[in-house]
Amino acid sequence: MQIRFSIETATKLVEAKAIAWPMFDPAQARSLEEQDYTMLLKQVLVIQKQIAKEVAQKEFQLHSKHKIPQEWKNWLSTEQIPFFDGDCKDAPCPACAE
Ligand SMILES: [Zn+2]
Repeated sequence: MQIRFSIETATKLVEAKAIAWPMFDPAQARSLEEQDYTMLLKQVLVIQKQIAKEVAQKEFQLHSKHKIPQEWKNWLSTEQIPFFDGDCKDAPCPACAE
C-alpha cells in the first residue's frame, strides 16, 4: 500500500477528502463491502497519522469538503486526528475552500 498526503506544509500533512461520509458510517453501513471500506479508511487514516508523526515529524490533519458525521468526529477525536469540514483557515485549501 502506498501512503500519500493531499497537502504538505512546513508543519503538517493534510489528507483532503471529498467523500460521502454516510457510506463510511459504521452505524449506517449496510453491506459487507461498505463495512470493509469503513475499516480500510480508518486503517489508512491511522497509518497516515503515524507516518506524519514518526517519519515526517509533522501534525496530521483531515480536511473534508463535506460535513463529517458525529460518529466519525468521535472516532477522529479518539485517534487524536484534528479535523476540519469547511472551517479551516488554510488558503487555498482544496478540501475546505469554495
Ligand atoms: Zn481545509
